[in-house]
Amino acid sequence: MIARPLSRCVSSSASSADWLVVGGGPCGVVAAGLLANDAGSKKGSVHWVDEQRFETLGRFGNYQSVPGNTPVSIFRDVLSTIGGNGFYKDQALREANALSPRDSIQGSKTLLSCPKPDLTCDLSLAIDALSDVSLRLRTESPNIVSHDERRLEKLVLEDDGTWRAELWRDDDVTEINSRRVILVPGRVPSATPPELQQEPAIHVVPVEDAVAPDRLQAVAKQQPVDRWVVVGNSHTGMLVAMNLVKRCGVRPEDITVMSRSPLCFAEARPGPPPYTKFDGTGLKGSVALWARDGEASKLDTQRYTEKEGWASQLRRGTSETVGVVFANGFVTEGSAMPEVVTAAGRVAFPDKCLPPETYDGYTGRLNLGPSVGEGHTLFGCGFGFPEVWDDVEGHSEQRVGFNTVFVEHVQRIIKAANGMPSHAGKQDQHRDPLLQRQA
Ligand SMILES: Cc1cc2nc3c(=O)[nH]c(=O)nc-3n(C[C@H](O)[C@H](O)[C@H](O)COP(=O)(O)OP(=O)(O)OC[C@H]3O[C@@H](n4cnc5c(N)ncnc54)[C@H](O)[C@@H]3O)c2cc1C
Repeated sequence: MIARPLSRCVSSSASSADWLVVGGGPCGVVAAGLLANDAGSKKGSVHWVDEQRFETLGRFGNYQSVPGNTPVSIFRDVLSTIGGNGFYKDQALREANALSPRDSIQGSKTLLSCPKPDLTCDLSLAIDALSDVSLRLRTESPNIVSHDERRLEKLVLEDDGTWRAELWRDDDVTEINSRRVILVPGRVPSATPPELQQEPAIHVVPVEDAVAPDRLQAVAKQQPVDRWVVVGNSHTGMLVAMNLVKRCGVRPEDITVMSRSPLCFAEARPGPPPYTKFDGTGLKGSVALWARDGEASKLDTQRYTEKEGWASQLRRGTSETVGVVFANGFVTEGSAMPEVVTAAGRVAFPDKCLPPETYDGYTGRLNLGPSVGEGHTLFGCGFGFPEVWDDVEGHSEQRVGFNTVFVEHVQRIIKAANGMPSHAGKQDQHRDPLLQRQA
């Protein structure tokens, strides 16, 4: 969305908060929940905004029938940490009142009644539980957590280190002064290459439809094709291939998975502390099981190159009709980012995808240029600003998803924004400016 010119301001009112949280998706719920827990009964602590309805839970709400990649026990841990007793009460209510249908993996109506907590479940169970937690956060203590369906368009760093935020709804703007800001804006699927719009034999199916078995089935029925191509072989791409075979009846031989690297599976490591290698992109849960079975090995696999146009790589010189799903990436849209104004000027975020140097993936702190340095309190996290993490084997990866390690990451952000040392591990000391000063 394009930022509106200030001349369209029609009204303005100012208030203040200790924290401004931007984004009501799953990671935004975790951030707001942890801050609400910390705030205790302190009034006016957290102002929480999303430009969409909070009930949609960001993009997560689109994935009802999608098999998740997070074990049920981890969802339970996270949601009970932020939701407390309310989480257990709401789960019991859902169980008793049959508010939800059973999921297809565990055969359960709630996360708490799943018989195999070490396995995954349909995301519908996590969506239900998360929307209950989000609702309680928004309604139970309005003095502590206030919320508003508005878009953050501009942040101005004041001389005293606080942020003045401009929040828009249609033509109406309000201002809030906040001591600290956490951006949790999520990501969107990479755009379809424009050249494919001119190709009548190539039908692009949005990845958000292809990951949901019921939606992909409907699309495949409506638009039969000779061959399918899935671009990308991370968890999402292989889930699409699995949906095509298991739910749409497509023969594995008629599916080409195009990738740039070999298949990669998430691997449990004992630690200490225990961790999951390739957690962000590696295959997990039902997708990993399927990818290891005999049928999946019949998939046609090929390398793709960005040097050659997509149309010729997909057509392969034939006149076949091809269904294509681009599952090769999500991007943080520069256009979802607020304009950030500091004494040194404006920090511009390019319109397409945010370059990695926009923020420090280890600490979540945004990079506002040398004149501001690291002393400010503007942070990003969630799918839009994934944590970067080095494991003990020296492998570095991005961690995504709302899980236990995300909770720990947000807790470190909260500490850092409060001016406390946040990275306890020795290997991380160079990333924490406060620890660096103390060393
Ligand atoms: C196949 C598949 C399976 C998955 N399985 C799992 C899983 O098992 N576990 C898991 O944790 N994740 C899973 N995910 C990923 C999950 O969907 C994402 O991690 C999640 O949606 C990201 O959450 P988020 O809160 O960071 O962002 P989002 O859900 O995208 O929410 C961001 C919110 O920010 C708002 N926003 C953005 N900019 C502004 C602004 N300027 N002003 C106001 N509001 C703004 C948006 O309106 C949006 O509501 C899966 C994804 C896929 C595709």
